[in-house]
Amino acid sequence: MLSFSVIIVGAGPGGLACAKLLAEHGLDVLVLERKPVAGPKVCGGGITWDGLIRRVPEHLIEGVFPRQYIRSNHQQTVIKSPDPIVATIRREVLGEWMYRQTLEAGAVMKTSCLVQKITPDYVATNQGSFRYRHLIGADGSSSIVRRYLNLTTDKIGVGVHFQVPGNFDRMEWHLNDTLFNNGYGWIFPFKGMASVGIYGAKPYNNPKQMLTCLRRWAALQKIPLNGLKPRAGLINFDYRGWRFGNIMLIGDAAGLASGLTGEGMYPALVSGETAARVIINPDYDCHELQRLIKKQQKHRRIVSFSAKNRLLNIATMEILILALRTGLIPFSMLEMAD
Ligand SMILES: Cc1cc2nc3c(=O)[nH]c(=O)nc-3n(C[C@H](O)[C@H](O)[C@H](O)COP(=O)(O)OP(=O)(O)OC[C@H]3O[C@@H](n4cnc5c(N)ncnc54)[C@H](O)[C@@H]3O)c2cc1C
Repeated sequence: MLSFSVIIVGAGPGGLACAKLLAEHGLDVLVLERKPVAGPKVCGGGITWDGLIRRVPEHLIEGVFPRQYIRSNHQQTVIKSPDPIVATIRREVLGEWMYRQTLEAGAVMKTSCLVQKITPDYVATNQGSFRYRHLIGADGSSSIVRRYLNLTTDKIGVGVHFQVPGNFDRMEWHLNDTLFNNGYGWIFPFKGMASVGIYGAKPYNNPKQMLTCLRRWAALQKIPLNGLKPRAGLINFDYRGWRFGNIMLIGDAAGLASGLTGEGMYPALVSGETAARVIINPDYDCHELQRLIKKQQKHRRIVSFSAKNRLLNIATMEILILALRTGLIPFSMLEMAD
């Protein structure tokens, strides 16, 4: 059986960031990815100024938005900034770029490789078994590594979206409690299309019902969805720790996405890099991840509070927009980075 210092399950942004750093430091790393290529994933592709925008080359970015249009049933506001507040990037483009960098750094990658079983010292896949010293669960919201650690997932969000062809120029967030409960609808423009979607956190996240609401809202916005196929995915925000001896969880597998906004790419990247640094130097000070976890927990508390009842939910949303409108809280409060 082949042995590796580190095996990473999953080649999303978290797994690839982790693998690249480890390989750059000379560790033998194996990344196992069930899909034939790294990258494609159901996602709105929104990245934030203090988060991923600064970490990816400009030419990969599709749209930059210094204005955010936010509206609820009772008010609307435009948040402006000289810098792009949110930008969009296609997941396949981000994935391909990160994959290439990880290969160049020297990591071994196996695609179409499904991890089926985990034991204390090896993983079994459809392409054979591999022994590990450290195991990283970077395998998203339905993580097999998380299940192996017996961690349940109660707090989970659902995102459903359509990729709608056309020219869209405004990045919009719609908080409409009748349609989206404690979630929101979004329009994130790309070149020649937009991700038009809806995010919701438990207990309001029945995907079928969400799809009906998304269709109704799109019709109100005069966005035609005829003939388009919806895509949905889970977003785990049930964080219960990330270090479990020689096994670590990162990104969605660790439940590090924001329960409030569903932003998860940046937390995946930060936690992936932190896990790598801790393997390289066990005394590494994980301050960036600790800050992110604090913010994640704040977002989680807001979601739990607003989910208590409808009036509380409406009040939370309206206060949030009012605070953004008056500048009482900055837009970055909604982002996962500081
Ligand atoms: C509809 C929707 C919209 C979203 N919009 C945004 C957004 O605008 N901005 C944002 O930041 N986040 C967004 N997110 C969240 C974001 O997509 C995730 O938080 C992010 O991808 C997490 O990265 P990750 O590396 O932890 O996991 P993932 O990107 O999920 O990667 C996990 C990888 O592991 C692989 N894998 C899983 N199981 C196995 C196995 N058993 N064996 C081998 N490989 C396996 C998967 O194939 C996958 O490639 C959205 C999510 C959804 C569903």
